Amino acid sequence: MDTVVLASIAGEIVLKSDRTRPRFERRLVKNIVDAFRREGVECSDVWIEAARLYVSGCRNYDALEKAVDTLSRVFGIHGATVAHLVRYKSLDDLAERVKEIAGEWVRGKKFAVRARRSGVEEFTSLDAARVIGAALYPLSAGVDLENPEVEVFVEIRGGKAYVYREMRRGPDGLPIGVEGRAIVLFSGGLDSPAAAWMAAKRGIEVDLVHYVLASPLSIADALRVGKKLARLWLYGYRPRLYVFDFRPVTAAIAGMVDNSYAQIVLRLAMYVVAEKFALAMGYDAVYTGESVGQVSSQTLKNLYALARAHPLKVPLIRPLAGLDKEEIVSLTRRIGVYEEAARTKEYCQLARGLVATRADPDKLAREYAKIEGIVELTATRYIEIPLV
Ligand code: ATP
Ligand code: MG
Repeated sequence: MDTVVLASIAGEIVLKSDRTRPRFERRLVKNIVDAFRREGVECSDVWIEAARLYVSGCRNYDALEKAVDTLSRVFGIHGATVAHLVRYKSLDDLAERVKEIAGEWVRGKKFAVRARRSGVEEFTSLDAARVIGAALYPLSAGVDLENPEVEVFVEIRGGKAYVYREMRRGPDGLPIGVEGRAIVLFSGGLDSPAAAWMAAKRGIEVDLVHYVLASPLSIADALRVGKKLARLWLYGYRPRLYVFDFRPVTAAIAGMVDNSYAQIVLRLAMYVVAEKFALAMGYDAVYTGESVGQVSSQTLKNLYALARAHPLKVPLIRPLAGLDKEEIVSLTRRIGVYEEAARTKEYCQLARGLVATRADPDKLAREYAKIEGIVELTATRYIEIPLV
């Protein structure tokens, strides 16, 4: 008997046209091979067949489990599990073999068989469930299709069947790389890693941009969070952190800009540097962790004033726009970066109490013009740090 890893692919990919799907599937496999290499998963083969992904040639049971764990963090995967591969001659033969594997699983429990047949067979999925169910029944505490304690999944295709208990959930989404590249403005707080994850989930290669607003110690925070995020989720390319020294900008704002506009002008300066960098480096979009109304600089009126004062030449995407803080916190927990992100300190010393919540676009443009020259200079100098 053989053991393999069986994974289901996100429904969204499966439903793509015949032209698009092979490209997405190739990229998914490439990302998985990269993930396995980085995680030290010792399995040799990864392939897709009829909307299912298979991993075989695993060194031992540990490698199989590690493969499942890794797959649960690859965008484009809906679920993954260790599955027993059986070859059978007839439906009765199949039922006997499933009993050898799943007999222990159902012992003394209410169970259900979920059978799925594809391809040409002499029996239907329903027949299979019935016959396999009858074979397991004597060992169990009975069948319960609505609320079983154990489900036995049997996927049948052309003389082979895959038997497993449950799938570990994957993140769904699109394989990283199929949608192009973007930068994420990254402070290393709770919002920016959540925004980066949301971007990557849509198939985007994300690189991070960090601005040193006050102390260069903030680089360590951004790096700690960025590395954890990259290690867990960003497969199939080499993600990077770009660091810009924004201290001349914050100093100029503190010295020259109307206090109540300081935060908003700073925000605009961040957008402008990101825009220039994105255009120069061939990124397709800029992402931020802003959420409408979360803080006074992010009221809808201020976002409007920012768009009017300086229309951007790249899309500015705010994937957290509709989330509240609790939802963002639970997302960072789910994706495994909460501990790192919660330790990040707030470094910016610009006045926070006096922020205008309904900035006037013209006044914002005038205030920004005072520091524009310094922003231009800042945009040209950065350092680059690999995250993996
Ligand atoms: P976060 O939790 O990501 O720190 P926040 O709740 O502190 O965000 P703000 O500080 O207003 O909110 O920042 C909103 C967004 O602006 C951040 O999510 C990030 O995209 C960007 N940003 C803020 N500070 C920086 C920085 N120092 N470097 C790069 N981007 C930044
Ligand atoms: Mg912040």
